[in-house]
Amino acid sequence: MPAAEPARYPHLLAPLALGEVVLRNRVVMGSMHTGLEEAPDGHRRLAAYYAERARGGAALIVSGGLSPSPEGVQWAGMTAFCSDDEAERHRPITAAVHAEGGLIALQLLHAGRYAHHADGLAPSALKSPVSPATPRAMTEDDIERTLDDYAAAAARAEGVGYDGVEVMGSEGYLIHQFLSLRANQRSDAWGGAYANRMRFAVEAVRRTRGRTSARFIIVYRLSMLDLVEGGSTWAEIVALARAVEAAGATLVNTGIGWHETRVPTIATMVPRALFAGVARRLRGEIGLPVVASNRINDAAVAEAVLAAGDADLVSMARPFLADPDFVAKAAAGRVAEINTCIACNQACLDESFAGRVSSCMVNPRACRETEIVVVPARVRRRIAVVGAGPAGLACAVTAAERGHEVTLFDSEPHIGGQFNLARLVPGKEEFGETLRYFGRRLALLGVEQRLGRAATAADLVAGRFAHVVLATGVTPRLLDLPGAGDPKVASYADVIAGRREVGARVAIVGAGGIGFDVAELLTHGGEGAAPDAAAAASGEAARFVAEWGIDLGSSVAGGLVPPVSSKPVRQLWLLQRKPERVGAGLARTTGWIRRTLLARRGVQMLAGVDYERVGPHGLHIRIGEQSRLLEVDSIVLCTGQEPLRVLEAPLRAAGTIPVLVGGARHAGELDAVRAIREGTLAAMDF
Ligand code: NAP
Ligand code: SF4
Repeated sequence: MPAAEPARYPHLLAPLALGEVVLRNRVVMGSMHTGLEEAPDGHRRLAAYYAERARGGAALIVSGGLSPSPEGVQWAGMTAFCSDDEAERHRPITAAVHAEGGLIALQLLHAGRYAHHADGLAPSALKSPVSPATPRAMTEDDIERTLDDYAAAAARAEGVGYDGVEVMGSEGYLIHQFLSLRANQRSDAWGGAYANRMRFAVEAVRRTRGRTSARFIIVYRLSMLDLVEGGSTWAEIVALARAVEAAGATLVNTGIGWHETRVPTIATMVPRALFAGVARRLRGEIGLPVVASNRINDAAVAEAVLAAGDADLVSMARPFLADPDFVAKAAAGRVAEINTCIACNQACLDESFAGRVSSCMVNPRACRETEIVVVPARVRRRIAVVGAGPAGLACAVTAAERGHEVTLFDSEPHIGGQFNLARLVPGKEEFGETLRYFGRRLALLGVEQRLGRAATAADLVAGRFAHVVLATGVTPRLLDLPGAGDPKVASYADVIAGRREVGARVAIVGAGGIGFDVAELLTHGGEGAAPDAAAAASGEAARFVAEWGIDLGSSVAGGLVPPVSSKPVRQLWLLQRKPERVGAGLARTTGWIRRTLLARRGVQMLAGVDYERVGPHGLHIRIGEQSRLLEVDSIVLCTGQEPLRVLEAPLRAAGTIPVLVGGARHAGELDAVRAIREGTLAAMDF
């Protein structure tokens, strides 16, 4: 690691002694299941993935969760950590992390009733709202055997070089299920009174400590805010924390919510470090160091959390997918070069839930460390990249990193393309961080930027480039409809960019990701402009907490209070031709958030719509046999895009065969994950 600048992040970079073991700074890489655990050659790939994060400065890495018992896996076929053979396969992982100066703990996660297979076990035979199978209620023998499994797995983990385990006691998994009446209706010594319900958690820690050495780190992940009906009271949370401390835990990490929670806890609209105050309250109650978690993605925010005394350590998970060198860059005073996790979930959690190996939208190398290796080019060439949207930026930066001489063209005066629109949508401000990152990289790598004038084929031919990349993106699709030229009709790009005003009653045509974005933009609001950034941030946090009914003070069990919806600022219709539920195609981990918010704001979502014409009084539509006039002042087209590649034909005619990436190559199902990946991979070929 480069020399630290202690004055800059003195709390973040301070070591922490945990008995005989010293963490080199206060940054924990939080647990994420990546899918590499089950992938061919997965252990070697995991070793490379974790080693890169250790090299980048993470003090303590927590692995993806593995079950200590066969029936505790979440999906059939998932890897469990319950045999010596499986444990042996982890030696290269722990060795690789140690070689980079890091420490690594294995997360022990028993899914309980979240199992998506027929052999699930849980405190009671109660199906969760988010899993398909009803679990079998555990017998006393099952309980004893499972607790021993935790201890045996921890002992095996220590045997193959792990520095600790994290006992997953939150997010609604087995241990958490024991704690809560919503999942535990037992009447024996493991149910009923809270002292009985917390026995399983405490025993898991006690037996784990009993089978491991004194220097072995036991992190207990403790739910500090359940955000479900029937969740724990604050007094119960404190009692549990004290009991796991007495049972031998080393650290307490923050868990927020269950999987079945219907409040966003990590998505991009969650204000940064929103839940740090909850960790702070627990910190005052116990002697163990406490780790703050959730939506901490920025070095200054992490430093502020620690400096304020909210926690002893910060946990960041997805930020280490986005940038393995987060800590090293902060330590070297290079924070502007940090590739920030924008909390979109698109390439990590959404992929993981689809059963695919995770990656990262802004860093396609994440979990592909052994496949995408950026090596210097054998011959330095002149490369033209036309279009400074996500695909073009990724291509330009990667080509320049490989040593090429890169010129980046864009007709706009600034870089960003569609990201410049995305970052204007309320709750998506983080997209601006990606542009800050790319802007900094372009400058440091000496990429020549020719912005503010559309490049012509003649420019490109005259430039004598070895390769020309067309990353010219997309243009909004227009609607072929009688009256479509009416001044009421506007494209999403003009509306989001503020080039077109919209009235109080609006029809949005097209309910894909952008239709939902526009609906969010047009129904958000209500407050006046905040005087400065800090006030704006705290105003947004207060609004978020009220809108989702979060009781950060934990004055009620579970921390849920009735949500307060702000007065709708507009009347909106969100329309699509497909017959299925509007928003059904949105991303798995965030679609429900967007549908819930708009429904609460009174947005009418209509499916199976035929568009007939635009008239003086609004939009004429038909649903089935019924014609209807939507009396609206504005009609916003969010009807997808067409590729923009006007330069292709003249370049080919001039004998230059361009490489097409992103939306210019194919506009359908375009998203920034594909754009950035394609741009990056194209640059690997030069
Ligand atoms: P999209 O998701 O393909 O949605 C386009 C919408 O327009 C669809 O609802 C489609 O539904 C409708 N449509 C298409 N052609 C039409 C026509 N000729 N006439 C009338 N309606 C038409 O595209 P998008 O919303 O523009 O988003 C572009 C890409 O960015 C997508 O891949 C999207 O996933 C991504 N994106 C993601 C997010 C996110 O938060 N994850 C946000 C924004 C964008 P019907 O055919 O049923 O009418
Ligand atoms: Fe963060 Fe999005 Fe990358 Fe996931 S895909 S790590 S949420 S930037």
